Amino acid sequence: MLNLVLFGPPGAGKGTQAVKLLEKYQLIHLSTGDLLREQIAAGTELGIQAKSIIDKGDLVSDQIVIGMIDSKLKANQNARGFIFDGFPRTPAQAKALDELLELRGTAVSAMIFLEVGHDELVARLLNRGKISGRIDDQNISVIEKRVQVYAKETAPVKDHYLSQSKFVSVKGVGSVDEIFNALCHEIDKLL
Ligand code: AMP
Repeated sequence: MLNLVLFGPPGAGKGTQAVKLLEKYQLIHLSTGDLLREQIAAGTELGIQAKSIIDKGDLVSDQIVIGMIDSKLKANQNARGFIFDGFPRTPAQAKALDELLELRGTAVSAMIFLEVGHDELVARLLNRGKISGRIDDQNISVIEKRVQVYAKETAPVKDHYLSQSKFVSVKGVGSVDEIFNALCHEIDKLL
């Protein structure tokens, strides 16, 4: 199986690249942000709880997102592999993902980090907010909060994969196709 963790701060382009990668490599896209937004749109209790957290730029609890990933892995037993987008976001989530995959006799193949500078991230998120209508992309203080939460809580996830020699870094600046080609170059080395 090919299991990729697409990693990077909010606005790094993970979602855009994930859609192109899953077509090319025939993988299932698991974005915890998308799964949470589905719950919000459906008006579930989980969605109502998650919305207030997401709108402030904080992280939803590990237990909730790990449970969502677990049920998606169960629902896709015959997948060729997965692209994890926006997950894991804490070291506890990274550990849980290792355990969930190990139970299925597989593992993360690589964590690919999309490198993008701070000012570029903020500009991209504000621009996306105009198009997508995402409330968390429309307010500069919520955006800065998400970037801070990333630096404090999510950036340490890199060490988890570094210690397993699974960390790969790719420049996340340039055209969508240039970045995609750089990602494919790294992924093809894993096959
Ligand atoms: P994203 O679409 O990945 O930018 O996620 C949007 C928001 O959903 C984040 O700012 C968090 O509030 C929440 N979220 C998404 N994925 C996770 C995760 N793995 N752990 C905790 N919160 C998450």
